[in-house]
Amino acid sequence: MADTQTPPEYRPDALIAEDIEAYLARHRDAGLLRFITCGSVDDGKSTLIGRLLYDSHMVFEDQLQQLESDSARVGTQGETLDFALLVDGLSAEREQGITIDVAYRFFATEIRKFIVADTPGHEQYTRNMVTGASTADAAVLLVDARKGVLQQTRRHAFLAHLLGIRHIILAVNKMDLVDYAADVFERIEADFRGFAAALEFENIAAIPLSGFKGDNVVNASPAMPWYEGPTLVAHLEALPLAGDQTGPFHMPVQWVNRPNQDFRGFAGLASDGVIRPGDAVRILPSGAQSTVKAIETFDGQLEEAVAGQSITLTLADEVDCSRGDVIASAEDPPQVADQFDAHLVWMDKIAMKPGRGYWLKLGTRTVTATLQPPKYEIDVNNPTGEGARLAAKTLELNSIGVVELHTDRPIAFAPYRESKALGGFILIDKESNATVACGMINFALRRAQNVH
Ligand code: GDP
Repeated sequence: MADTQTPPEYRPDALIAEDIEAYLARHRDAGLLRFITCGSVDDGKSTLIGRLLYDSHMVFEDQLQQLESDSARVGTQGETLDFALLVDGLSAEREQGITIDVAYRFFATEIRKFIVADTPGHEQYTRNMVTGASTADAAVLLVDARKGVLQQTRRHAFLAHLLGIRHIILAVNKMDLVDYAADVFERIEADFRGFAAALEFENIAAIPLSGFKGDNVVNASPAMPWYEGPTLVAHLEALPLAGDQTGPFHMPVQWVNRPNQDFRGFAGLASDGVIRPGDAVRILPSGAQSTVKAIETFDGQLEEAVAGQSITLTLADEVDCSRGDVIASAEDPPQVADQFDAHLVWMDKIAMKPGRGYWLKLGTRTVTATLQPPKYEIDVNNPTGEGARLAAKTLELNSIGVVELHTDRPIAFAPYRESKALGGFILIDKESNATVACGMINFALRRAQNVH
């Protein structure tokens, strides 16, 4: 029997990814908020998360075990799948199979489900935080009420701002150790708001709490009658969820599925927007145009796919399209360029080497990028004020700067503020194979010609 409707042939790792994406999609429907906790060692992150899980009574142990076994089954493909799969994360870093020291935990209340990224680490803290924060909707910044806002707090707030986190919660912890004093809390809150005002977060909340005693975490505190705001959980329940299905459709092509002469499908994770059969698309960077014939998934064809779903697209025309290309809405396609202005967070002990070629991974594309000496380094203690731009010849571990970078080939991209998937990238040292930096494209310095 002629089988012209051969369904896409999924590789085992893609299949597992699909299970997990489906899991994520279900919980997204139910209202899923992703957040990250940030703080210095001993500020009480672990205690707070433990308290959240314990007092909310709803931990998805079953699903977690299921996911753990799913993750364990992968590995035959030479790729490591861990809980990072549950957030889009730095997908290229994930593909590399680099172990990232970020624990994702799930819990739920009657109103909402949560994924919290717990980011431990001392020297590697920035790397862990960037990984955890890259898909978070909110960041909980912990400060010890006895110490107040520290340089670390400002650094974390600035990183959260750079990574596009919209909501900040300043959790003033260990209030039990300052006699639950209102004036201590108010001073810390004022200090932080003074610093963070210029970072343009959508909202900043400050909450006095004790993770250890359970004050204002899930249950309101009888010890702080002067505080009239919500508990941490009530605040997290009320935050608006990110609308990542708005904006034009993008799908970085992960692989081309060609089981026989009659079927050619382009598989990947839809990173932005919505797509339907019949929609006009462009393939970037070539600029070729076609129309979506069908959206295939493991469960059959779809009438519509949205950001966050793993799909296989078939197209109406025989256009050139391969791994690393981007399939995008023809109405508002991404730009194509080979010179960029970008923020860079340096995450390696060996400082940045201007002039040297690094692998740059953006979406599913890998190219060689050369860095110019930094335009400037940013003083994270004073990132928006006078004197925030420091002269620098290079970027050291954990420093943040603005650089110009050139790629050896034009790539499709969007500014990070418009698309995290097409504007966020990592740099990999070609010799050590270590991920040395993450970056966020601000704009193109030179657009490619002859594309649109
Ligand atoms: P982490 O390093 O940020 O994860 O901090 P931990 O959660 O391990 O807490 C560090 C220490 O602070 C531990 O001894 C905790 O018991 C203590 N701690 C954490 N939160 C509180 C709190 O709200 N009140 C008091 N008194 N101690 C706390």
